[in-house]
Amino acid sequence: MITPKPPPETDATLRQRAEAQWRKRIENSADAFGDLTLRDTNLLMHELHVHQIELEMQNEELRRAKTEADDAKARYQDLYDLAPVGYCTVNADGVISQANLTLTTLLGVTHKALIGKPLARFVCREDQDTVYRVRQQVLSPPGAPGHAGAPPTCELRMVRGDGASFWAQWTASTKRDAQGAPELRLVVVEISARKAAEAETLLAASVFKHAREGIMITRPDGTIMDVNDTFTRITGYTRDEVVGQSPRMLNSGRHGPDFYVAMWQSLKTEGYWSGEIWNRRKSGEVFAEIQTISAVRDAQGQLQHYVALFSDITAQKEHQRQLEHIAHFDALTNLPNRVLLADRLHQAVAQATRRGDTVAVAYLDLDGFKSVNDHYGHDVGDQLLIALASNMKDALREGDTMARIGGDEFVAVFTDLTHPQASLPLLTRLLEAAAQPVLVGDIQVQVSASLGVTFYPQAQEIEADQLLRQADQAMYQAKMAGRNRYHVFDALQDTDLRVHHEDLHHIERALARHEFVLHFQPKVNMRTGQVIGAEALIRWQHPEKGLLAPATFLPVIEEHPLAVAIGEWVIDMALQQIERWREAGLDLGVSVNIGARQLQQGDFVERLKTILAAHPKVVPSCLELEILETSAVKDMAQVSSVIDACQQMGIAFALDDFGTGYSSLTYLKRLHVAMLKIDQSFVRDMLQDADDRSILQGVIGLASAFKRGVIAEGVETIAHGTALLELGCDLAQGYCIARPMPGDAMPDWVETWAGGSNPFG
Ligand code: C2E
Ligand code: MG
Ligand code: MG
Repeated sequence: MITPKPPPETDATLRQRAEAQWRKRIENSADAFGDLTLRDTNLLMHELHVHQIELEMQNEELRRAKTEADDAKARYQDLYDLAPVGYCTVNADGVISQANLTLTTLLGVTHKALIGKPLARFVCREDQDTVYRVRQQVLSPPGAPGHAGAPPTCELRMVRGDGASFWAQWTASTKRDAQGAPELRLVVVEISARKAAEAETLLAASVFKHAREGIMITRPDGTIMDVNDTFTRITGYTRDEVVGQSPRMLNSGRHGPDFYVAMWQSLKTEGYWSGEIWNRRKSGEVFAEIQTISAVRDAQGQLQHYVALFSDITAQKEHQRQLEHIAHFDALTNLPNRVLLADRLHQAVAQATRRGDTVAVAYLDLDGFKSVNDHYGHDVGDQLLIALASNMKDALREGDTMARIGGDEFVAVFTDLTHPQASLPLLTRLLEAAAQPVLVGDIQVQVSASLGVTFYPQAQEIEADQLLRQADQAMYQAKMAGRNRYHVFDALQDTDLRVHHEDLHHIERALARHEFVLHFQPKVNMRTGQVIGAEALIRWQHPEKGLLAPATFLPVIEEHPLAVAIGEWVIDMALQQIERWREAGLDLGVSVNIGARQLQQGDFVERLKTILAAHPKVVPSCLELEILETSAVKDMAQVSSVIDACQQMGIAFALDDFGTGYSSLTYLKRLHVAMLKIDQSFVRDMLQDADDRSILQGVIGLASAFKRGVIAEGVETIAHGTALLELGCDLAQGYCIARPMPGDAMPDWVETWAGGSNPFG
């Protein structure tokens, strides 16, 4: 350190002070040495003093020069030590001979620990080559290969005393030492911060370059400053084409001014905006991107630029659109599906409520579509559906909806109707469209449609999905009424139907809970007294209502598959009963009533065989089947073949309630039944009514002409039985013989009857 010194005295003052001292001494010596010699001596002394003064002055100068030299050296040492860069001198052997304080601080070692150590010790292993190269460059003689002209610089990693590394920049030069040997001088600057900044910049640049997102940097006024490669890949614009331009060049026109106002608002207040935006590529194609724009501000909060990052999400959007389409549209016909229909229906209802107009909901089911599928295969069926869907859609007005909600079931929703009747021409058009012949390949197919329609609003509050149910019911009515027509939903009828549905449900449950029972009514030969069999008659042992007659529940299931299930249950129970009677020593056949619906089941014979197979001890000839409601027999040939097949197995048939159906004669001719069962209505009044008596006679005559047996039912009194015997009808069944009874009561009854209780005997 430079030590502050007192200011040196000037030459003039020194001189003045010396002269004053001499004058005083001369005066004193004049007193001591006498006049002559004294003068000479004085002069001599004066000379001497002058010399002395000069010497002292020279001495002072020397002292001053030395002080200055010392100061300069101290200043140099200070400069050397405190220079903002590290310095060191390295001898030809690579050993550090001199180093400044900055370098020791940089390396975190003492001066002592540094001097005399090889320089390489303070350089990372990875950069040892660099040390070697630098020394080569600097120390090799000028002109020799490897010698550097200008002082070489290099960047390398050095190691501190504590083992930590840091980046340094070396600037090397050479000098010869006192002995003329070359030595290396190094200027060492720590550049870790710069290296870190460089790495950061490099990273930022590489992010910018390689980002999968498009990046656009704009000035605060919005003009584009820079874009990355992905920007170009997505938009089709090169960097040169967009720099200096406004991002408005990407505008797709899909967003209104409000959109951009909101975006700028968010950028100003929040500092960023993020969302989905539709832009336009250079090719003109519109694409979707998800974008985040951030405002970048400096430390003072001054807006520097905006950075927009975006990804092309057109593919995702398209995929999403496809998924939505799949979720809402029928794959075959491309019509809205049930989900979208529900949505449209809700909208239509809400809109009609607002506007006070009418909505019509039409439920449409193709007639005979199944047979197209069965005859020509599903491909033809599919093509037919596609064609009809398109025809029907064309029959609609703009704004109406045509949906496919199942195999051959469609629903149309008509909105904006002034009144319900306004829909009728549309329904007719729809039916016509469904009934158009369609050419599939070289096959022409044609079906028709049954359509049920209901309207909104109604007298009562109604939900959208209830409308669908109503239209479905009305469609069913249209089917029942002969197909290829529409039927308008009737709320009153609906209530009946609903009750019907409930009843059905109860009957189904009763079957599952084994609440049905069979009673048996004996059939006898009045002339011989022989018991020829028993008729099985179903009853419902209702838990609350007691024993219910079949008339209270069978009509409910007439058209329902339950009728078949119950019919099969009856056969099974009847066969069980035959088995039980056999065990009790009674050999008695049973007649079972069969509804036309059951008889016309395609697999009736197979199912009957299955039931019989479950009762191997029962011979089929023990079973007789009474065909009910013969007028319901539609396919005479089919029923006839069923009867023949059953007769082959030994099962006999009777036509029940004979005489009531208006084409009984046709049935008699076509169906090979063994027995005619005269309806009880003729028997009941035969004693009073001559006409009924004539009918009885006629039927009995017919039976004998056609070689069929005949039996009378509803024989309530002995008088009736006697009259029948007179007419030639020996077989009978009726209250005066026995009322229907539980199966287990039969053996006792038969015994009693055989014991002489035959009133006709
Ligand atoms: P149906 O086959 O003509 O049976 C004769 C009906 O007349 C029985 O009524 C029987 O109880 C009744 N009856 C018998 N003798 C007399 C009599 O002297 N006077 C009067 N007034 N009636 C007599 P039920 O049991 O109420 O059966 C009524 C109808 O229900 C049956 O008429 C039959 O059509 C049907 N039915 C009964 N059981 C079954 C069954 O298991 N399956 C099917 N599909 N229908 C059945
Ligand atoms: Mg019967
Ligand atoms: Mg009958």
